Amino acid sequence: MKRRPAKIYGVLGNPIGHSLSPVMHNAAFKAAGVNALYAAFESSDPEGSIRGMRALGICGMSVTIPFKTSVISYLDELDPLAERIGAINTIVNEKGRLKGYNTDGLGAMKALEGKIDLAGKRCVLVGAGGAARGIGFMARERGMKLVVANRSMDRGLALADFLECPFIPLERIREIRANVLIQTTPVGMFPHENASPVPDYVFQKEMVVMDAIYNPLETRLLKSARAEGCATINGLEMFIHQGVEQFRLWTGLNPDADLMRTAVKNALGE
Ligand code: NAP
Repeated sequence: MKRRPAKIYGVLGNPIGHSLSPVMHNAAFKAAGVNALYAAFESSDPEGSIRGMRALGICGMSVTIPFKTSVISYLDELDPLAERIGAINTIVNEKGRLKGYNTDGLGAMKALEGKIDLAGKRCVLVGAGGAARGIGFMARERGMKLVVANRSMDRGLALADFLECPFIPLERIREIRANVLIQTTPVGMFPHENASPVPDYVFQKEMVVMDAIYNPLETRLLKSARAEGCATINGLEMFIHQGVEQFRLWTGLNPDADLMRTAVKNALGE
């Protein structure tokens, strides 16, 4: 009997060599018995990449830095949530029509909801880039009271305006009292594990502190927060949850999140 060729999926970004999406999704496809392969595509041409996706019949794509907004104009359709956020991290090829979705914010909320009821909680969002935009949007949808703390004033103010919340320069973060702190800058990421974007004295007991970084699993910021008695959530939880949502969009199946987590942890050498 002739075997059908594997469906092809991938992640588009630049650089992309560090991405653990292939490890996570290939493990999930295998466990679910789906005949599919997931590869990493490094490109400096968003338009050509999307044309290539169409021409080759690639079934689905994760999209990461720096293409989360620049690919949008080459797609056929946007999910309403992605449209409101203004950035995507997932493309689904629906019989030749390419539709963009954003699962980053949802992934972050799923990771947080395991530790705290979100509605009405005060949350300081550290950073004002693409990740902060998706996370902030979903946090506001969940009823959190946000404050944006960012290094540069222009980006910080623009995000605060989008989220209809106050802005504070990062160096004044000690003035904020919050139940939740979400760190979304790359500060503290491998190989600069000793760096933290905020001073240790911002952590207060009973705060929930989440870092979007997953390499290392426990950043300097999370270590300090844990030492102060805060509940901490690492970026792996957000990464797994956003990946689970992507897998559902592509296949209609619920993947095994524990297995995906183990595959990524193994790849990180944990
Ligand atoms: P981005 O769009 O480039 O935004 C970076 C943000 O970090 C900006 O607000 C920038 O501030 C701030 N920043 C950069 N260097 C800084 C420094 N030295 N000190 C203080 N602030 C600094 O990046 P992004 O797409 O939002 O991604 C940010 C991080 O989230 C990355 O580490 C990424 O890996 C992670 N992430 C994780 C997941 C997950 O699933 N776990 C998903 C998405 C992203 P300025 O405005 O001042 O430049």
